[in-house]
Amino acid sequence: MDNLSVKWNDVLHDMENIVTAVSYDLYIDTLEPIRVDNNKLILLASTLQNKNQILKFLKEKLCNIVKLHFQNIEDIIILDPSEKDSYISQEVEEEKEKENALDPRNKLNSKYTFDTFVVGKSNQFVYAAARSVAENPGKKYNPLFIYGGVGLGKTHLLHAIGNYAIKHNKKINVLYVTSEQFTNDYIQALKADKKENANKAFRDKYREVDILMIDDIQFIANKTSTQEEFFHTFNDLYQRDKQIIISSDKHPRNIETLEERLKSRFTGGLIQDIQRPDFETRLAILQKKVVQENYNVDEEVLSFLAENIDTNIRELEGSLNNVILLASLMGKDRATINEAKETLKDIQYTSEIKVTADKIIDDCCEYYSVNKQDLLGKKKTKNIVVPRQVCMYLITELLDIPLMGIGELFGGRDHTTVMYARNKIADDIKKSKDMEHDIKELMSIIKK
Ligand code: ADP
Ligand code: MG
Repeated sequence: MDNLSVKWNDVLHDMENIVTAVSYDLYIDTLEPIRVDNNKLILLASTLQNKNQILKFLKEKLCNIVKLHFQNIEDIIILDPSEKDSYISQEVEEEKEKENALDPRNKLNSKYTFDTFVVGKSNQFVYAAARSVAENPGKKYNPLFIYGGVGLGKTHLLHAIGNYAIKHNKKINVLYVTSEQFTNDYIQALKADKKENANKAFRDKYREVDILMIDDIQFIANKTSTQEEFFHTFNDLYQRDKQIIISSDKHPRNIETLEERLKSRFTGGLIQDIQRPDFETRLAILQKKVVQENYNVDEEVLSFLAENIDTNIRELEGSLNNVILLASLMGKDRATINEAKETLKDIQYTSEIKVTADKIIDDCCEYYSVNKQDLLGKKKTKNIVVPRQVCMYLITELLDIPLMGIGELFGGRDHTTVMYARNKIADDIKKSKDMEHDIKELMSIIKK
């Protein structure tokens, strides 16, 4: 077997574990790897319909797995049979285009707007900052630095700022690039035969803008000369009150190889983080998506997904897509809890969560900021008693330990105490929205 087939087999193996059997058989197993081209893996789907289904529902998962096994692959391209032959000539043309023009201006995704962005506790501040920058570019927070984990909405917000600014001022010049694109443009300018022209084209592109957005800046952190060029671009724009917006996976101070002078520039503006969404926000995001995409799905599915998937929003959306896909594969016109459970089986299979009493106790301590000794001890103050009862409740719900055994964990308490706690919290959940919220949050933290 050649190298491509070996790696592709690994991809198949992993995919088999994370998608439903039907999706795997229908869509993944029927793909044929063609070759690697320009950091892209080219795959042939057996029909146009399959291609479209994969693009819609499986591409992201597949792409992630491909990246795991193939070094330097950034994307996958899926062809349908009719495209196979014409693809080769088209590729050559595209390459030429790239060489000729430094400035095929990056399109903003019209789906990523403020309207489609759900605001909750986890992102309200960053949302406010982004809006304010979109309304008054260059005037208020400059630069605006947004950081947070993957799939939490950074790119969405950047595009939203751009879309908003353009909508309200047709003449405004907005440039959105990833830090990789910035680096590539810079390297091309360095390599070009006609250096002066190339440099001018580079400067024109990056300095003749009113808003410059660089997504995922962490990727230029270990590239010295690109950082140098970015520093100059930054200063030039900043001095002319042009808005700069940057995103990253970390706070600037924690990007180790980022030059000090850039860190200090970033710190001069507003730095905002974006956190994991809580249950209500996750649910609202799913509800919005259902309306947007016109999905036909039981409400119960949405709360089930929101409860179980809290890692990031991309996953959350992906799981909803999978549920819809599965329902359609089964010939149903409405997705129900059954498909949702089936889909999540896959996910749980991959994450291998191990819930133990210790983990539940630790998570409760952290959630309520109480120390473990107190939680397991005899104190009777309210700020300890409630977390303790919640903790007992969760253990009874999530684990198969006899009540007496649970009593033992809490300093040899009687099993009736545990029973009382369990009933009390179960009751409180029905009566109090706050308690319901806490339990849902804790459940998802514990399952992580
Ligand atoms: P990041 O750039 O932080 O990795 P993205 O901006 O690409 O994350 O977001 C991942 C997906 O989640 C996108 O489809 C995006 O539209 C969606 N998303 C993220 N945050 C929200 C939100 N608050 N409301 C609605 N959709 C969101
Ligand atoms: Mg992003």
